Amino acid sequence: MQELTHYINGAHVKGQSGRFADVMNPATGEVQARVPLANAEELAEAVEAAKAAQVGWAATNPQRRARVLMKFVDLLNRDMKKLAEALSREHGKTLPDAAGDVQRGLEVVEYCIGAPQMLKGEFTDAAGPGIDMYSMRQPLGVTAGITPFNFPAMIPMWMFAPAIACGNAFILKPSERDPSVPLMLAELMEEAGLPKGVLQVVNGDKEAVDAILYHPEIQSIGFVGSTPIAEYIYGTGCSQGKRVQCFGGAKNHMIVMPDADMDQAADALVGAGYGAAGERCMAISVAVPVGDKTADRLIEKLVPRIEKLKVGPYTAGDDVDYGPVVTAAAKANIERLVQTGIDQGAKLVVDGRDFKLQGYENGYFVGAHLFDHATPDMDIYKTEIFGPVLTTVRAQTYEEALKLAMDHEYGNGTAIFTRDGDTARDFANRVNVGMVGINVPIPVPLAYHTFGGWKKSVFGDLNQHGPDAFKFYTRTKTVTSRWPSGIKDGGEFSIPVME
Ligand code: NAD
Repeated sequence: MQELTHYINGAHVKGQSGRFADVMNPATGEVQARVPLANAEELAEAVEAAKAAQVGWAATNPQRRARVLMKFVDLLNRDMKKLAEALSREHGKTLPDAAGDVQRGLEVVEYCIGAPQMLKGEFTDAAGPGIDMYSMRQPLGVTAGITPFNFPAMIPMWMFAPAIACGNAFILKPSERDPSVPLMLAELMEEAGLPKGVLQVVNGDKEAVDAILYHPEIQSIGFVGSTPIAEYIYGTGCSQGKRVQCFGGAKNHMIVMPDADMDQAADALVGAGYGAAGERCMAISVAVPVGDKTADRLIEKLVPRIEKLKVGPYTAGDDVDYGPVVTAAAKANIERLVQTGIDQGAKLVVDGRDFKLQGYENGYFVGAHLFDHATPDMDIYKTEIFGPVLTTVRAQTYEEALKLAMDHEYGNGTAIFTRDGDTARDFANRVNVGMVGINVPIPVPLAYHTFGGWKKSVFGDLNQHGPDAFKFYTRTKTVTSRWPSGIKDGGEFSIPVME
């Protein structure tokens, strides 16, 4: 069986801890590799290499640093098929979806090629007699990121591209479920000309994460994953004096107004609810039709579309709409939540419980489910299911629908489908959710805007990518300088006031 490694100081390094996790093929349920789980000593080794490499990297001018990213983009395009294949094999998503995962990361790398522009400081000429004042953005030093299984290419790139463009060294602790693509990305960055030690991959679980949290040389931590872990990492990381940004779970509502184009809304819901088996933090998991007539029309349109969905392994090519979920535990959890929905009185209008795929009986495939008449007190509404399960909560008015989205503890994304500009505008202004779609079901901002939710979907101040990333991965230093022509005789004993 293949034994994966860490990537430390430019080399594949075998695990020393003696602990490993199985990497599964979710389509077959077979173990296809094992990944080492690092201990604190292995993490410390990576930090030492990062510290040494970061000094020279920070001193490399920003344009040269950007050229490495330019070359990296070429290499990502060259290896797109290979990366997507490796990603699908461990994650289970379809090949086009896996290529999209790489592509959305690549776009952030492209954005970071503009680092020389983003890192330009501020300058005030003649702030006082003979006095100039300037601010510069300097890298933090050694930075780290902890990423989830569901976007094993995109989310690591969202973190390491800006971190490295700003002159930091970056240690990535990817998900232990699908670690191969992150290792491939680190190799490609080195092929693009990145010096050894600037980007490293330390595989692991909680032990490696805790080592990152408590290592005094690590200046910042980026995290994306589930909310309880986000909360833990934010609290612990901040208590250790680190700069931390954590992005958590979601329960994204799509409001369907009576005037919406119902075919468009149904198509959007099917793609956003079931694409990637619902394992997206921007998936729509709650449909909120306004009025019973709208709800009946929507359900009528949804059912045949959902029943037609093709579920299968990525190897089946274009014939597949979504693949298996990531682990047997994820599948069992989805099944358990579906049962709570039935027990608590929601109406299961599309029942995927008996779904079986011939030849793939041990794979983690889950049939598509649709609930109607769910209520906010039910577990299927309160919990992030992270599977192919769409829950419909009927609202009688627009205000009631808005309140549902606003009262939910998560606030990652949301959408409204309507033909009425006033309603759309009101929704976008009032809803307390970070990313809003108007007739767009998955409103993931492009690289030059920022990505982030509100409420329990985020812990920290700055969003991912866009201009915020350059703030997160740098700190400001402000210099006040005066040259002899501006210096008066004698000392000054009061706080200087610029005249
Ligand atoms: P997860 O929280 O289980 O794992 C995320 C990372 O944390 C992994 O690297 C994992 O090894 C580590 N981890 C797991 N348990 C830990 C523990 N007890 N202590 C310390 N570290 C631990 O999340 P996941 O299942 O990999 O990913 C799915 C979740 O991520 C969903 O909740 C989804 O909504 C969320 N997500 C959010 C965003 C966003 O931008 N808001 C994006 C993608 C995914």
